[in-house]
Amino acid sequence: MRLRNIPRARDVIAESPWVIHDPEAHKGAWQDVFQNKHPLHLEIGTGKGRFILELAQRHPEINYIGIEKFSSVLLRGVERQNELELPNLRFIRGEAEIITEYFAPGEIDRIYLNFSDPWPKKRTAKRRLCSHEFLARYDQILSAQGSVEFKTDNRELFDFGVEEIEISNFRISAITYDLHADPVLNEGNIMTEYEERFSAKGNKICKYILIRKI
Ligand code: SAM
Repeated sequence: MRLRNIPRARDVIAESPWVIHDPEAHKGAWQDVFQNKHPLHLEIGTGKGRFILELAQRHPEINYIGIEKFSSVLLRGVERQNELELPNLRFIRGEAEIITEYFAPGEIDRIYLNFSDPWPKKRTAKRRLCSHEFLARYDQILSAQGSVEFKTDNRELFDFGVEEIEISNFRISAITYDLHADPVLNEGNIMTEYEERFSAKGNKICKYILIRKI
């Protein structure tokens, strides 16, 4: 995601009632935020929020939180939610490395990773959101039936992600190397900003769904 500093971003985010400014304070009590017991799904690295805004409109029976570390990127999604006021959607402007400080064990039912940053240098591999270090964090906050869904057009990153599963508590329940040609996995697919851009160039989209080994 190209980073352009947008001066109003911080103020818009600070003033939005749809952004949770103290996520640590809600650890273990997110049902109070949504005032229901619906399942809770996260998108990590939500960018401008298009994917999660669409999901939240399609599935009012599920609660959604989009996590994004940069205000200038998140701005668009927050402005749209300020207009739509979807009761089942919140945003966190935060860092996924400390996700276990935001959510209690078993509190999350699904995690979406969409077109995560590749961090191509080997020494920064642990920052990749599909690394075993991150899978271990997801393991801590996901419910017993919880799942991780990862999409990317970056084949090297995807292959790395598949290798990392070996040293995690997850296993593959579904996988494709050409999502848009896969009638089962593509059903109900919502294109992210990056997905639209890269598939328009002819890039194939890889996707896996992980569930627990035991
Ligand atoms: N998911 C969107 C899509 O598919 O169009 C955006 C993809 S963009 C390449 C990746 C986004 O993840 C960026 O906006 C980046 O700031 C965010 N991100 C990367 N690492 C993150 C982290 N550790 N915590 C929170 N957000 C992160």
